Amino acid sequence: MESHMQTSFSTNLIHGGIDGDKRTGAVNVPIYQTSTYRQSGLGVNSGYEYSRTGNPTREALEKLIAELEGGTAGFAFASGMAAITAVLLLFKSGDKIIISSNVYGGTFRVLDKVFSNFGLEYEIVDTTDLNLLESKLDDRVKALIIESPANPLLTITDIAAVSEIAHRHGALSIVDNTFMTPYLQRPLTLGADIVVHSATKYLGGHSDLIAGLAVTNNADLAQRLAFIQNATGGILEPFDSWLLIRGIKTLSVRMDRHLENSKFAAEFLRSHNGVTKVYYPGFEDFVGYEIHKKQASGAGGIISFVLSDNYDIHEFYKNVKLITLAESLGGVESLVCHPASMTHASIPYEIRQKVGIVDTLVRLSVGIEDKQDIVNDLANALDKSIVR
Ligand code: PLP
Repeated sequence: MESHMQTSFSTNLIHGGIDGDKRTGAVNVPIYQTSTYRQSGLGVNSGYEYSRTGNPTREALEKLIAELEGGTAGFAFASGMAAITAVLLLFKSGDKIIISSNVYGGTFRVLDKVFSNFGLEYEIVDTTDLNLLESKLDDRVKALIIESPANPLLTITDIAAVSEIAHRHGALSIVDNTFMTPYLQRPLTLGADIVVHSATKYLGGHSDLIAGLAVTNNADLAQRLAFIQNATGGILEPFDSWLLIRGIKTLSVRMDRHLENSKFAAEFLRSHNGVTKVYYPGFEDFVGYEIHKKQASGAGGIISFVLSDNYDIHEFYKNVKLITLAESLGGVESLVCHPASMTHASIPYEIRQKVGIVDTLVRLSVGIEDKQDIVNDLANALDKSIVR
């Protein structure tokens, strides 16, 4: 996009980063499906040498996400977990990472089962409790990894306060912004050092690709992440980079509909006898509501709720028809999942109980179908799952 123009976020979604193709005038960045590039002489190249190191389609995506998050450098990976893994490779044996108590199960698993083999330690802390967090920071803690709202209980952490505490103790603040996207929340502007995404979710938006992104506004971290991305090679391929750019173009219109539909579904669930608790950051009485309102411009499209004892959870999942029982979230279609046996199964049972991921918890990713159809499907499934 012409750099002299000041445009709004929704416009930047469509024209940000690298807009179109200078050579042909194509309005969309082409898919540069190539592994390598001709060099006109020894050490003389067009700016690209080999696609693990740099590819124009991936570069367009990386520039776009950096701009949208308010960062200076973006990196695209083959999955959200590849992005998180690359970020964790910034640390070394003897370092310690603090993760918030209901961070995505895969983030816990890679620390618990992979990085622990290399001496990188971690501790799970309730990051909503700032005094507790402060007491856990010692010289060995090199980073905090948080999500807000966190998966699946939508727990709210104060990103600015946590980042300030991290910095005071010489640690980095890393925020997984998958649930919000930069349309609703920009952690780097709140003091975070690195933002990561499972772009598989809202950024892609159509449940048709797996991708991860990392963004920073720190030159040193950018240089180290670029090195790690090239050295370890978990890059996003050109076609999926293009698909992700395409998904991002409609982010604002999709998110607006997700917001409208989730509010409607949350209100329905809260009024239903078969539901004992609804986790939804859009409710004024939701714990952390004020903090969320301060740092994000919308509640998001995820609702979690607990079925009452006289409802059969298996029957509920069997009887949703429009809403699909599947892993993942953030697509145009509504999805439900069972955190205890799916997304959070890798978290030990005792920890799950302690943090509230009970066996009767349902996580709903509200899609952009007609909102009444979504609610009708929930009503029907609830009706069919009463234990008579
Ligand atoms: N972070 C969050 C919040 C997620 O929900 C997920 C996946 O569900 C991930 C990270 C991992 O991303 P991916 O599945 O793209 O590897």
